Order: sequence, then C-alpha cells, then structure tokens
Amino acid sequence: MMVKVIEPRSVKLSTRTEIEVRRNLPHAQLRRVGAWVFLDHFGPTPMVEGMQVAAHPHAGLQTVTWPFQGLVEHNDSAGHRQVLRPGQLNLMTAGHGVAHSERSLAGTESLHAVQLWLALPEAVRDSSADFEHHGDLPRFDLGGASLTLFIGEFGDAHSPARTYTPLIGAEILLQGGATATRVPLNSTWEHAILAVDGEVRVNGEVVAINSLAYLPIGEATVEISSDTVARLILIGGEPFTEPLFLWWNFIGRSHAEIVEMREKWNARDARFGEVEDALGGWIPAPELPNVILKAR
Ligand code: MN
Repeated sequence: MMVKVIEPRSVKLSTRTEIEVRRNLPHAQLRRVGAWVFLDHFGPTPMVEGMQVAAHPHAGLQTVTWPFQGLVEHNDSAGHRQVLRPGQLNLMTAGHGVAHSERSLAGTESLHAVQLWLALPEAVRDSSADFEHHGDLPRFDLGGASLTLFIGEFGDAHSPARTYTPLIGAEILLQGGATATRVPLNSTWEHAILAVDGEVRVNGEVVAINSLAYLPIGEATVEISSDTVARLILIGGEPFTEPLFLWWNFIGRSHAEIVEMREKWNARDARFGEVEDALGGWIPAPELPNVILKAR
C-alpha cells in the first residue's frame, strides 16, 4: 500500500512573539484523520518562552496538548490552571464554548510540542466545557519501540482521557536500527504518522521529518523503522463523517453558527467567559472571508 505523505505548511500564530508552527492538518489533500481535524507542531526551539498566546475561544472541539520538551501553562475561563510537562496530557473539551490562554515557561533548554484538535460529534458538541490533565498513561514495549497512549484506545488498553469517538493518539519512540517494528492497527480506522524529530520509514517508504504519512482504512498493521532514535506521533480513528465548518478556533455545523460564535467572542459574551492570567488581554477573532463558508 502506497503511503500518502502530507507536507506541513508554516503558520504564524497570533502570539506576543514571532513563533511559527508547522501545520499538517487540515490540509488540502487531507481534511481529517478520524475525528482529528487539526495538527500543529512547534519547535524544537531554544526560545522556551516563545509561546505566549493570550485568551482566545474554542467551541465544538477538544484541544490535545502534548509536549516533548518544555513547560506550558494553561489557564481557562472555567477556572482550570495547569502547568504541563513532557509525558503529560492536557485535554480541554470546549463544548459550547470556553476561552483559554497558553504560555510556555522558562526553566528548560528547549520547547517542542504538538497540539491537536478533535471534532466533537453532534450529540456532545454543545456540552459544557471541561478540562483534564493526565500524567499516568498506558505504556507498551513493541520491540524496538515504546508507545505511550495519551488518548483513546490501543488494543484492549484505554487512556484515562475522555473521548467521544473511537480513536487513538500515541507517541512512539523508535530505538533505531535495521529491524522494523510492527504496530497493530484497528483496520476499520484511518491513521496517520507524524515524523517528529527524525526521518522514518513507514511500510518501507521514507517519511521526512515534519511530514505526516496517511494510512487509509483497511490496514491491520504498520511497519515503522528509522536508522536513529526517532519520535513519532500516531493518530487514528473511526472515519468522522459529519460535515464540519472549521474556521479560526471554532467548529460548527453551519456558516450562521460560525458568524454567531465570532460575534459573541468579539462582544465579550458570557458564552466563552473570562480568563484570568498573567498574560492579560485577549485575541479578537479576525474578519470572516467575504464568502459563505463551506462544509468540509
Ligand atoms: Mn487554543
């Protein structure tokens, strides 16, 4: 099976600094992988305090933050405050609406992380906001590689993080060498593998650092290898078939819903609440494009 490879694009975030991220999802050739609709990869950078994102809203999704290096402080309008360290997961369920700020802290040599979004299905997308932090996560020895299940399911194992559709989110650390590691997959799901810090081979095909290799449904295993120690992110899930309107930090089901979310945030409406943090201020939603948004 040929592997479709998604190259990232560089995106400048609305932050107090000039930090740029590499975005693999959404992509013109790949809108989503299961319920995974968004994948940003930033660093490694010695600018460990470079991530200073003031209060901004989310709705209709969960944010999944997973650092490899560095410290990230989360503050949200439901009153949750949490410093996140490598090997730990922050999961924010935005539901009907929440606001949060994210800033990286001094005290480490390097900052390197991924942040992903999961679309919430219709039945729960208007629920109230929630936040979870998990440091005790299932780990597996795959022979030549180790896997940390930060969210979802792997075989019979489950991450404690709360999910609303069948999915997996895992970090894999390859030891490097000639022998490939065979990773079992749920063959009714689609999957993708991000090469985080080294070139890897996925089913024998070279995947460059920062690229995302897509595996369609029907694959019961995947073979991964690398010449050197390398870190991967494996995401996957049951195909998510609801049409989505994804704009800025929101996921809705119609253009009108997105217009309403934008107006309420910019009017400082109680739907999203207030964030109390050391950063101060908030990020206004940009102008909508002068066209009716389309479902994707
Ligand atoms: Mn955010």
